[in-house]
Amino acid sequence: MVGQLMALGVSATHARDRVSSMRSTRAAATFAEVYGGGTIVECANKARRNLNLKGLHALDLRTMKDDGTPWNFTLRADRKLARELLDKDDPDWLVGSPPCTAFSIWNYAMNYPKMDRDKVHRAIDEGKTHLNFVVSLYRKQMLKGKYFLHEHPAPALSWKEDTVLALIRSPLVHTVVADQCMYGLTTPAEGSTSERLPALKPTRFMTNSVSMRDQLSLKCDKSHIHQPLVGGRCRDAAFYPLQLVEAILQGMALTADHDAKILASVMGCRAMEEERIDTISAVTKAASTIPNVDDEKPVPVSSVKKVTGGVLPIA
Ligand SMILES: [Zn+2]
Repeated sequence: MVGQLMALGVSATHARDRVSSMRSTRAAATFAEVYGGGTIVECANKARRNLNLKGLHALDLRTMKDDGTPWNFTLRADRKLARELLDKDDPDWLVGSPPCTAFSIWNYAMNYPKMDRDKVHRAIDEGKTHLNFVVSLYRKQMLKGKYFLHEHPAPALSWKEDTVLALIRSPLVHTVVADQCMYGLTTPAEGSTSERLPALKPTRFMTNSVSMRDQLSLKCDKSHIHQPLVGGRCRDAAFYPLQLVEAILQGMALTADHDAKILASVMGCRAMEEERIDTISAVTKAASTIPNVDDEKPVPVSSVKKVTGGVLPIA
């Protein structure tokens, strides 16, 4: 938004002040991470407090429930508890990144053929349980007029699952692929403990916010060489780089700014409409005090003078 104002000729300082004051006057947009370790929540609540966002929860195997045990969404009881918590706190955004291993093309091509068939089915069923859980949460967000952001690797086969495809078919839902190298993703270089090289890691996002989609649309500019994500590098690249976290937060803030503008515009229109109704009412009231001449008796024709000055004869 700062850039848009500057394009309109507003100085950088004034543009930043304008956006900052707008953000400080709107209510903080709230969000929860589901399967996120809490990086986005932590960044919003500390480093990027100026965006006026509030991270409420990070529900993940690495975070704890009130009873001190970690969230485990393979358990129906934990899914139910999370639903109740989210219903109660009603966040404006849900950010979901369920486990993607079960849908990995690598597993389908290399590992599943060598594994016990029952074990493969169990792994896929578990993956689907997690996926269907977050999709049901996203649907609820949409029904409430709120937002979601879902992430999985671009090549993952989860994008072809019926539940996901049904959501994608909605005209309100958008998908976009971000190349994480453009958001600062790097992994250690071969044989080096200090050097790091960019990793492409194309990641597909699905969201019902255009502002969020636009923040996550950077593609590799081919200005560097990528390091393939094999072996331990997969693990190193399993966390969002800071720039990606910031882009996600920016997407939430821009969405909230946009909604606040629309609300102000609607409120302005409503105020104008109320003013118009008041004016009409005042005019009507004033008009009602003018003597009513409608019930005057008709003037006898015989008394109407002809233009010639004579009197019309009575028929
Ligand atoms: Zn790149």
